[in-house]
Amino acid sequence: MGRGTVQLTRVADDVHVVTGTNVNWAVVTEGREVTLVDAGYPLDAGAVIASIEAVGRRPSDVVAVLLTHAHLDHMGGIPHVQSRSGCRVVTGADEVAHAHRERLEQVSVRRLLAQTRTPAGARWVGQTLRAVGPHVGMRLAGVEAAPGESPVDAPGRLVAVETPGHTTGHTAFLMPSSGVLFSGDALVTGHPLCRHDGPQRLPGIFHHDADGVRSSLRDLRDVPADVLVPGHGVPVRAPLADLVDGALERTDHR
Ligand SMILES: [Zn+2]
Repeated sequence: MGRGTVQLTRVADDVHVVTGTNVNWAVVTEGREVTLVDAGYPLDAGAVIASIEAVGRRPSDVVAVLLTHAHLDHMGGIPHVQSRSGCRVVTGADEVAHAHRERLEQVSVRRLLAQTRTPAGARWVGQTLRAVGPHVGMRLAGVEAAPGESPVDAPGRLVAVETPGHTTGHTAFLMPSSGVLFSGDALVTGHPLCRHDGPQRLPGIFHHDADGVRSSLRDLRDVPADVLVPGHGVPVRAPLADLVDGALERTDHR
């Protein structure tokens, strides 16, 4: 289950970013207590637990998981964390039904397998299938909607930023006290299927609504942040508006 050493990147006093199977999550601390932002693939669950312990906290210290969107690479570790902590799970108001699997907005198996045409794609498909394991049908229960513009009552006091497109209820989270934006898959800095690193959108096959991705990206220009923690790729320190402009200029894919 991917236990053992985990690589943590500290982007603020109380924020550590962790990379699992081609995907990031973050450990936000406030005193003893922990908020997780996303939780990796199902088979990253052991690494999620190890990352909590690596910052000197216990799994039972987790108060909440903030979920950017209900894809398997972001919500997979949640049941394991919840069983150890009884934590709340909070996502955007329009993403709750997706997390409960009242609807499904996910890349189809056919389009996934089509990626095996290139060596990099084939490697990524293999890693993805392994990381999902037998949990492809997983769903969450009892997920809460983030409050509109007020902070989520959990360590870090993060504020939900609606960023529909990648999924209907995709939600980024801003940590005002440290200027960190957790952008999920609304804005990334790399992915095994991307040709180049740097701020950009994910390839179109992943998006439920590609036009929505573009307009949500434009809206992120106005968010007061200077540290970007994306769902995929490395964290970057720069004014968010500059990163957004960089991503909008990329025309690798749409
Ligand atoms: Zn993702």
